[in-house]
Amino acid sequence: MNKNDFKPSDFIREIIREDLKTNKYGGRVHTRFPPEPNGYLHIGHAKSICLNFGVAAEFRGLCNLRLDDTNPTKEEMEYVEAIIKDVRWLGFDWDDRLYYASDYFELFYQYAVQLIKDGKAYVCDLSAEEIREYRGTLTDPGKESPYRYRLVKENLDLFERMRTGEFAEGSRTLRAKIDMASGNINMRDPVMYRIIHAEHHRTGNRWCIYPMYDFAHCFSDSIEGITHSICTLEFEDHRPLYDWFLDELKVHHPQQIEFARLNLSHTVLSKRKLIGLVEDGYVNGWDDPRMPTIAGIRRRGYTPESIRNFCDRIGVAKKESLVDIALLEHCLREDLNRRALRVMAVLRPLRLIVDNYPEDKVEELEAVNNPEDLGMGTRKVPFSRILYIEQDDFREHPPKQFFRLAPGREVRLRYAYFIKCANVVKDARTGEVVEVHCTYDPKTRGGDAPDGRKVKATLHWVSAAHAIQAEVRLYDHLFIKPDPGNEEEGIDFKAYVNPNSLEILKSCQVEQSLSGALPGTRYQFERQGYFCVDPDSKNGKLVFNRTVSLRDTWAKIEKTLTT
Ligand code: ATP
Ligand code: MG
Repeated sequence: MNKNDFKPSDFIREIIREDLKTNKYGGRVHTRFPPEPNGYLHIGHAKSICLNFGVAAEFRGLCNLRLDDTNPTKEEMEYVEAIIKDVRWLGFDWDDRLYYASDYFELFYQYAVQLIKDGKAYVCDLSAEEIREYRGTLTDPGKESPYRYRLVKENLDLFERMRTGEFAEGSRTLRAKIDMASGNINMRDPVMYRIIHAEHHRTGNRWCIYPMYDFAHCFSDSIEGITHSICTLEFEDHRPLYDWFLDELKVHHPQQIEFARLNLSHTVLSKRKLIGLVEDGYVNGWDDPRMPTIAGIRRRGYTPESIRNFCDRIGVAKKESLVDIALLEHCLREDLNRRALRVMAVLRPLRLIVDNYPEDKVEELEAVNNPEDLGMGTRKVPFSRILYIEQDDFREHPPKQFFRLAPGREVRLRYAYFIKCANVVKDARTGEVVEVHCTYDPKTRGGDAPDGRKVKATLHWVSAAHAIQAEVRLYDHLFIKPDPGNEEEGIDFKAYVNPNSLEILKSCQVEQSLSGALPGTRYQFERQGYFCVDPDSKNGKLVFNRTVSLRDTWAKIEKTLTT
């Protein structure tokens, strides 16, 4: 079995198997992914998406995409559209089951009225601050609101007037009447509705009372016939409230199940923090390739397959942990290694003149597109007298471990010839080597010497007259600290932003075959890494993002783990 094809199993799948055995929901499995459209989705959401859609597919069930849009002040259409695009790009499909919690506002209202009628909810005139004071603490019980025992009739009247807009924002709330002495603070008469005089991106000005998450979420699940409501651990303490609302109204009751959220090293996975990075200009927008957003990593060149594979490998558990970003990069390399075209590109060019090669001669040499998949064929690369090689591949005074080009030394040019360095030309002022002169051995065409002599290095190169100039953007971790979200006292997480997370190289030289490459196309630049054409490429001017370098730090980490 290919190690990428393994079927995940975890405690959630165990619960579902058991429920199917006992026929708990008539043999149905129905999950949902319920993002709030107050920011772009990130790789943590991908974990939840893969889990919810994955579980549904595995058990022949369904998974809904639901926009949890109950807060008009933070939500926007831009986010809704980005979310839909991102979930689809990850490879998941919800058929016609795209839902909006805001479509249930009228139903939520009816549920609230029913709770009032049952004496289980009341209109409270305390301010937000007073409610907080009355709530008590983990060690002290709360204090009952003076409005707790309002008559049903009065509550119904006030709630309706809240809806029609008679009262000022923040002046009243509707609260569930549960238990101010409960050991679980979430059960101390939680707010169900608040007054917000703001326009909603879908319902406009139709409403000025908006339901709280805990109230809206359980009923959204119930209305949609969800069976397993999978969410992250921070909702564990909210489960009693989830159950309370549904039990009080005696409606379809899904099972809430919590799992540990994904934490990824060298980045932050919180929409609030990501918004901070965008708004304060630490990155160039939500889709900046350094961002852990789906939009950012897509632009960077990640494939949906590599992200899904990553999510399978990290698994699902009840305990929080920090996953090394090297594992995500490893999954990507594995995928791209199989399918990216190899090409030659010189990032920091140094001129190389082949003195004994005829000035007007051009040869078309055959290059392999992907040694992992010979079915991907070959292509022709032009060779001529003036070439570019990487500055790093030449040293005038080579240190001991340096086996690449140096005066008097012979190396191979990939797919071409052996060349031997004769001398260098330096800038008279700076002393910098600006040109390397060498001779080639015509008998080594294709890269091997008939006399069997060996060389210690093979360099990539491009023909100066044929290469195209391109811009390449090199990325490094966005944060220098492995766990920047774990803020030490008094230090803002932005203090850990890596000042060198982006390096732009403007005069790279890439092989001719890349002319006209479309945004989103991925390549391996031989010996350097995987790169992807950025949408900023315009009018023949190519811009590449380095998706990931070839150096696999995860393979190293894994080795130390297993030896
Ligand atoms: P954030 O903390 O980034 O603001 P959120 O939980 O507020 O995220 P939602 O839009 O409410 O964002 O999340 C939608 C779903 O994705 C929820 O079920 C949530 O539990 C899940 N989710 C959010 N972050 C992660 C994460 N890091 N790992 C796994 N699942 C996550
Ligand atoms: Mg949330």
